[in-house]
Amino acid sequence: MSVSPIPVSSRARRIFCNRTLNLRSLKAIGYDMDYTLIHYDVGEWERHAYDHVKEALAARGWPIADQQFDDGYIRGLIIDTELGNVLKANRFGYIKQGFHGMKPIPFEELRRTYSRTIVDLTERRWEFLNTFFSISEACLYSQLVDLLDARQIPEVIGYGDMYRLVRKTMDLAHMEGRLKGAVMSDPDRFIDLDSDTPSALLDQKYAGKKLLLITNSDWEYTKVMMAYAFDRFLPEGMTWRELFDVVILSARKPLFFTSNNALFEVVSEDGLLRPAPEGIKHNGVYVGGNVEHVEQFLGVSGDEILYMGDHIFGDVHVSKRIQRWRTGLVVRELEQEIAAEERSAAEQARLSELMQEKETLEDEQCRIRVELQRLRQKYGKTSGRSEEELRRAEETIRHQLMALDEVISPLAKSAAEVSNPRWGPLMRAGNDKSHIARQIERYADIYTSRVSNFMSASPFRYLRSARGNLPHDPGR
Ligand code: IMP
Ligand code: MG
Repeated sequence: MSVSPIPVSSRARRIFCNRTLNLRSLKAIGYDMDYTLIHYDVGEWERHAYDHVKEALAARGWPIADQQFDDGYIRGLIIDTELGNVLKANRFGYIKQGFHGMKPIPFEELRRTYSRTIVDLTERRWEFLNTFFSISEACLYSQLVDLLDARQIPEVIGYGDMYRLVRKTMDLAHMEGRLKGAVMSDPDRFIDLDSDTPSALLDQKYAGKKLLLITNSDWEYTKVMMAYAFDRFLPEGMTWRELFDVVILSARKPLFFTSNNALFEVVSEDGLLRPAPEGIKHNGVYVGGNVEHVEQFLGVSGDEILYMGDHIFGDVHVSKRIQRWRTGLVVRELEQEIAAEERSAAEQARLSELMQEKETLEDEQCRIRVELQRLRQKYGKTSGRSEEELRRAEETIRHQLMALDEVISPLAKSAAEVSNPRWGPLMRAGNDKSHIARQIERYADIYTSRVSNFMSASPFRYLRSARGNLPHDPGR
């Protein structure tokens, strides 16, 4: 069993709050399963999924047998399916980093290509890596882009159609039995157990919250995974089923929140279904259905339900935008990311100091330049220095700035690589917030690295958002 290397008392295990949320006033808390209640070893799961899709494409005659899974991708990246690039954008949608195939795109080329482009995720061109399940897809697609460029794909296909084919093949792999079959038969290999998650849910249950499990996984998979990850940590004789008032399987989120899918009740252990046109009438296990069924059964409305998930679009964005549910995102990466930032805090402080010095010198350089301009054009106020004196002063500053840049560059590079040498931190793009950080800020009321962090918050806590920072705040 792997236990979090980050102690529960550390900052990385806190619940972070975008919008004030009083846990005490919630009537119900819903949970997603995969990567929310149950965390997988991402490398293991994604290598496994990658191998399945690779096999299917090799069967089409594509020369990919020698390619290996590369885990150097992070959530929140964006695939440009028109140009075959994987990109990282900032909160405004400006592209800050990119790879074409397996090669980084040089800064100048990136600027030329995207100077007039802003990522808008509603356009079909862009694919957002919403969950850990997208990592294998991004890796395989990038490798195939290189093969396509080298004219080794034995089909007439462009970057866009090739992406859609990889997507479809991955989709099928998740739905057909073999991929999940291997996970179910060896959960120990794939699941990263957390013995505190069941206790966190018991705290909430006994504090009077209705608990829901709403997952896109099916009955066969869910019952194996939940029993494996939960039953061993629950009190003697209790199983995961007793934790939840309602379990909804094959929920088809985000459609669950927007459409009126029919509801079925699971009436036997082997998954026999009975239509439930009258809605949810008692605690139990259901398939499909929609958000109305849940709200009617519980007699609660949007702001009394918190839904915790890991999928920024399927779990959090739609439930917030359409239903006004309170939302929480599970962001496991925060643990490594915050720990890495803490380790490099001294370097970061030094970098800020040097940047401050640079700014002061640049200000002075600009003042000299405008003064030279005024002297030459004979207008405005000047300091009384001659043109020669000003030119010498400017020259000195230029040398000081060059020397400063020599020190700043390596520090800035290592700060940008904190937590991932290729893409840097999940939540930042350069000095700014990343695109995913902005999505989290907009749609997730709270975010935290894992569900068991609720243990220290307790079900009674009033989670208050911090005062929002603005560029004109003092000290910024
Ligand atoms: P949840 O996170 O508990 O809602 O469940 C996620 C489910 O979606 C898991 O069963 C995944 O195997 C499945 N899944 C992830 N990606 C895909 C996909 O691309 N197509 C179909 N199912 C997927
Ligand atoms: Mg999930």
